[in-house]
Amino acid sequence: MIQIKESLLQIKDAFEGQLNNVKTSSEAEAIRVRFLGKKGELTAVLRGMGTLSTEERPVVGQIANDVRSDMESKLQGVIHRIEAEENDRTLVEQKIDITLPGNAPPMGGRHPLYKVIDEICDIFMNLGYSIAEGPEIEFDSYAFERLRLPEGHPARDEQDTFYITDKILLRPQTSPVQVRVMEKTQPPIKIVCPGKVYRSDALDSTHSPIFHQIEGLFVDQHVTMGDLIGSLRLFARKLFGEDTKIRLRPHHFPFTEPSCEVDISCWGCGGTGCRICKNEGWIEVLGAGMVHPEVLKMSGIDPEIYSGFAFGIGVERTAMGRYGIEDIRLLFENDLRFLRQFR
Ligand SMILES: [Zn+2]
Repeated sequence: MIQIKESLLQIKDAFEGQLNNVKTSSEAEAIRVRFLGKKGELTAVLRGMGTLSTEERPVVGQIANDVRSDMESKLQGVIHRIEAEENDRTLVEQKIDITLPGNAPPMGGRHPLYKVIDEICDIFMNLGYSIAEGPEIEFDSYAFERLRLPEGHPARDEQDTFYITDKILLRPQTSPVQVRVMEKTQPPIKIVCPGKVYRSDALDSTHSPIFHQIEGLFVDQHVTMGDLIGSLRLFARKLFGEDTKIRLRPHHFPFTEPSCEVDISCWGCGGTGCRICKNEGWIEVLGAGMVHPEVLKMSGIDPEIYSGFAFGIGVERTAMGRYGIEDIRLLFENDLRFLRQFR
């Protein structure tokens, strides 16, 4: 028994001596195998326990267990220390040189026209409107006839529309979307229709054959001109600032009655006159009016019960005013030097 005990303590001493010199995790593993492994020195000694008496065995067994667990925990401590050191070394050796220039991926940005469209649509969505969309290639009947512009109507000539066939054309306004919604839905209807429209205007600094509109339509019982004015005033304040005023001037549109053009007080000078408003103090931003009863009727809505208002906002004009853009062509040239300014 004494002999076995001696052997155990010798093994422990030898183990601790070697452990102090361990530098790498593979060295630590070699020591584990040599002393604590299945064919290790400790195991070999314990095999000799068979020669002990039944009284001696538990005593030596206890010593052997203590020695083993002591050795194991010391080895574990060394392994942890080595792993931490190896990690630190890896971090130092693999340090990334952040002073090297990288390859920046090309970044896009929202087009200024679509930023304005998003902003206007957000305002109306907060007022309970939903977005409606329709085709850009449209039937003559939706674009004209059902908006009280029958064949031969002078407004149809004025519009200088891009016809594809006699009956199919590129829509000259977004109003056909309103017709399409009205013929499928009974009031209350509360929609805004943003989109591209086409007229065969020659391209110059203020005209483009392609441009964008946002039209709005509200149809319900007892909708009045007062509701229209209130809604537009709210919209103008949200988009152009709390002090913005609106002004209505009588106008004629075939699809609304009464109709008006709507000016807002100039965002540059607040109404006193400046270069932006050409000293008028006011800037025209939209057309509006009460939906003509015949237009409602042609789309299956009873004008005896329902009434509604509609308005149309020019997106280009709004964006140009908003961002101080002086030439409409800049919006369509896709010149990155221009577009990058609106990121
Ligand atoms: Zn002004």
